[in-house]
Amino acid sequence: STEINSILSRLGIQDRNPAYCTGLTWGGENNQETRVIHSPTNGQPIATVNMASEADYEQVITTAQQAFQEWRTWPSPKRGEVVRQIGQKLREHKEALGKLVSYEMGKILQEGLGEVQEMIDICDFAVGLSRQLHGYTMHSERPTHRMYEQYHPLGVVGVISAFNFPVAVWSWNAMLAAICGDVVVWKPSEKTPLTAIACQRIIEEVLRENEVPEGVFCLVVGDAVIGNKMAHDERVPLVSATGSTRMGKKVGEAVGARLGRSLLELGGNNAIIITENADLEMAMRAVVFGAVGTCGQRCTSTRRLIIHDSIYDEVKERLLKVYPNLPIGDPLKDGILVGPLIDKAATTAFLDALERVQQEGGQLLTGGTVLEGEEYATGTYVTPALVEAENQYHTVQEETFAPILYLIKYSGSVDNAIAIQNGVRQGLSSSIFSSNLLETEAFLSHWGSDCGIANVNIGTSGAEIGGAFGGEKDTGGGRESGSDAWRFYMRRQTNTINFGRELPLAQGIKFDL
Ligand code: NAD
Repeated sequence: STEINSILSRLGIQDRNPAYCTGLTWGGENNQETRVIHSPTNGQPIATVNMASEADYEQVITTAQQAFQEWRTWPSPKRGEVVRQIGQKLREHKEALGKLVSYEMGKILQEGLGEVQEMIDICDFAVGLSRQLHGYTMHSERPTHRMYEQYHPLGVVGVISAFNFPVAVWSWNAMLAAICGDVVVWKPSEKTPLTAIACQRIIEEVLRENEVPEGVFCLVVGDAVIGNKMAHDERVPLVSATGSTRMGKKVGEAVGARLGRSLLELGGNNAIIITENADLEMAMRAVVFGAVGTCGQRCTSTRRLIIHDSIYDEVKERLLKVYPNLPIGDPLKDGILVGPLIDKAATTAFLDALERVQQEGGQLLTGGTVLEGEEYATGTYVTPALVEAENQYHTVQEETFAPILYLIKYSGSVDNAIAIQNGVRQGLSSSIFSSNLLETEAFLSHWGSDCGIANVNIGTSGAEIGGAFGGEKDTGGGRESGSDAWRFYMRRQTNTINFGRELPLAQGIKFDL
């Protein structure tokens, strides 16, 4: 459409974009392969991108390494000032970038804008943090000795991101890495490279005006082959990878084999527990947003609903009233709450999961169809499904990246619900709806939820950047964004200083020459 074309030109994206940007310069003479990016909203081609070759990758990494030599010498608050200006630029371009996120990925406009807001928020957070990269001081056991620890920059940080948060995940990593003195090489999802190119364009002017060395923020557009190269590359001390557990196991293994550091943000299988003491009005809103928002394509999407048997029928009935009336369609249109799945392969995965769960004994209550007609010609618009199921079904144990909500009944005390909630391999997000302190505190206790995120009276999705984000078990164990997640982007050093004229040894050891 003309609107999208004007957004593309405003964000500096033209057809046949070069494969990468190393800070300020766009290049890519070695490109052979190109890829046409289609919008999941209407199937229309948006633009063609060049995919990076191995030679391009080499050039990006060496440029980044050189940039690190200078960038690490900048005082952190000065690096923070660059990030502050990046935040300003994102504010200026929020509307355009948010729309492009919606158009390229398919989430509704409100969520596209929300994603850009998260980028702005992490910039603000990182600016403050740039004056607080602190370690502890300790008392030495030796007289006239002082001990403290400091945090130093690591080097090149590789960021591999998933299609569903095409730009926010980069900013969570890149803004922290930048103030820490690291340089970033970003490999976005091959499904959503345009928004990544847009980000590079948006920050370009800030980098130039501040004379940031070329290569501090790099982009390399490629698929799993380039991601795999990065995982094996000893010049990349930290790889932060967001995506499926299958991908994370491969990346984790490759990085681990060379004793590098990996930060893994992988799949979830998130549940909400609704106890007999829940405010159902509130719970329903959280459940529906969590289960059908982003068309079930958030890592924190609600996939399982664990309901006390005394209120099971009521919850089921309430959901059955809402589900058939969900506004599904073009995510850029006002009033739409459910956009499309990312591609036809995702539609197939959705239908397959529904078929398998029914073979296992699950009961499809509503939804589970692919919408047809002119408005839905892409074959990626589906009706969110509600399925009565049991937790141990193979299909329920997996993360299907689509809007399927499994209703699971529990009886007795909240401990039984918690056991069901924890009874999957993933451990990302969890929540409980209850006004009973004994239940909510049990859920948050050492023997409660085993997830990285555990919420009370709010849903599983929609985390704030101020907290550390990530999950346990098959979710990979990584933490990024707020709290002290920055420490992972730095190397830690313990320093002992002798300001006397004697040389006492630790542990009282005598070693007289
Ligand atoms: P995906 O695993 O298919 O791809 C993610 C990224 O990994 C892409 O950039 C891809 O090119 C790259 N990749 C794939 N195989 C690789 C390999 N062997 N080596 C290196 N790189 C490789 O995931 P997706 O379909 O884009 O995203 C959906 C998944 O991401 C879901 O499982 C979702 O839960 C997860 N996710 C998790 C979080 C989180 O923070 N925990 C956030 C968003 C998405």
